[in-house]
Amino acid sequence: MVTTCPLPPMSRTEPRHLRLPFLLLLATGCGPGLPAADLILTGGEIVTMDLAQPRVGAIAIKDGRIIYLGDDRGALDRIGPGTRVVALDGRVVLPGFGDAHVHPISAGVEEGRCDLTDLETREAIVARITECVAALPDSGWLVGSSWSLPAFPEGNPRRETLDSLTGDRPAYFSSADGHSAWVNTAAFRVAGVDRATADPLNGRIERDRGGAPSGTLRESAMRLVATRIPPVTADELREGLRRALVLLNQHGITAFMEAAGNRSLLEAYRDLDVSGELTARVEVALRALPEVGIEQLDTLVAWRNEFRGTRARAETIKFFVDGVIEGRTAALLEQYSDRPFAGEPEWRPAQLDSMVAALVERGFSIHFHAIGDRAVRMSLDAIERAEAGRGREGRRHQIAHAQLIHPDDVPRFSSLNVIANFQPLWAYPDGYIVDLTWPALGPIRSTWLYPIGSVAKAHGVLAFGSDWNVSSQVPLLGIEVAVTRRNPRDSTGTMDPLLPEEAISLEDALRAYTQGAARAIGTDSVAGSLMVGKLADLVILGTSPFTVPAHQIGEVPVVATLVEGRVVFGNLDSLGGD
Ligand SMILES: [Zn+2]
Repeated sequence: MVTTCPLPPMSRTEPRHLRLPFLLLLATGCGPGLPAADLILTGGEIVTMDLAQPRVGAIAIKDGRIIYLGDDRGALDRIGPGTRVVALDGRVVLPGFGDAHVHPISAGVEEGRCDLTDLETREAIVARITECVAALPDSGWLVGSSWSLPAFPEGNPRRETLDSLTGDRPAYFSSADGHSAWVNTAAFRVAGVDRATADPLNGRIERDRGGAPSGTLRESAMRLVATRIPPVTADELREGLRRALVLLNQHGITAFMEAAGNRSLLEAYRDLDVSGELTARVEVALRALPEVGIEQLDTLVAWRNEFRGTRARAETIKFFVDGVIEGRTAALLEQYSDRPFAGEPEWRPAQLDSMVAALVERGFSIHFHAIGDRAVRMSLDAIERAEAGRGREGRRHQIAHAQLIHPDDVPRFSSLNVIANFQPLWAYPDGYIVDLTWPALGPIRSTWLYPIGSVAKAHGVLAFGSDWNVSSQVPLLGIEVAVTRRNPRDSTGTMDPLLPEEAISLEDALRAYTQGAARAIGTDSVAGSLMVGKLADLVILGTSPFTVPAHQIGEVPVVATLVEGRVVFGNLDSLGGD
């Protein structure tokens, strides 16, 4: 119910007996002339991310917007007959988390397929695939995802292993990082891939000694087989998005950057936006294809104009500048320490420069996937050239992942106004780092990995994201690792950290997952911090991340998530109130 506190019914000069109703009104808290809130949260620790008013105890919300932030007394002045008042009892409220790089639809679709997420050993992976073979219809393709590279020698699983589980049915499994695929003999047969097939541009078919494909495909070679899989239908995409939104809201996420958009994903976002089911603000980064080049410019502009919705927009363009270090497909400035090559970027530098310049000219923001130090430098160079002589307003260029940054390039994030879009959950010594990355980089470059603290010290803007379904979507897990640089599953907080000097404070990590992410997503004028007039997108945590030991931040529970003042996850009944 929407109500307004009535204006004071009379002035002080009016007869004393007529003032009684006004006093009663005050007793319900409704202040003279103030709008009555729909919802008030009191008695909490509300962390606003607004430097002018960093912490308050109460917040009042009306029509989806914040109308008051301050102490409890002031909030009581906004109580009208229809106001719901909830006592936070010391709980922490933050702006809703933003995930600045995530693939929700593919994550949601894969949840409904053979999902190998978090299985760390070959045995566990084999057991899960066996279950899938039994459970999924026995005709057609077996499609799955998210196998862990470190579970197999050199990240290189073999087709015979899959053959023994799947028999003659074609099978295709993408890896957890999305840059490799594991396929069986039947799939190679359907795709016509054999020893005579050459490696495609920017791709590699792993082979056994005789030259026959051994079962693993890298980068563009994945498409040799992937293009033979029956396409996902529009219904499956919408269903995947619904499933993903539940899993994002559940962890406090209220906005995100779809990190590799195309026409069919745009349609899924639009459909749920129109039906009112889109419970997060979405920026779709449309993928630019190097093989199409400048020809796709008009299409990208047309899609941007066509898909301007209420909560979903597409004003960002995504470039895959390179691959990944563990697959030796990242573009490095110097050769890999264990291979005689440095990795080729997916875009030629001149082609990247001209495409970025043309897009910047048309008002797009750029979102680069750049992992190797050469890819990061190429991205910074492209922005420097495209932005030369322009004003900086409204620019949201960003380099996602930024795993290996040459020290000379660290200050350029700040000087070029490029957002460092890190996935902090990756910044600890797991199997990818220890077994696959350190040998690839050698001792000196291994000290440049995920330099989050260095970029922050050099005044670069940080935005955090998960890259789900590559890794977990839980923001508090990433925030924990940004603070500890240790394995978040370490229940003791004593395992070895990765370059602990690159850790940042909890306050800075929370800022990167809220305000910084909103900047990257393009929602910072309406969300990302709690300020009067902004939308009431927020998360309520069950315990304070500021009081638990750092290695337990990832376990802090989310009690409720609100988008425009409406509960999209959890419920407020579990909290105190009227
Ligand atoms: Zn990604």
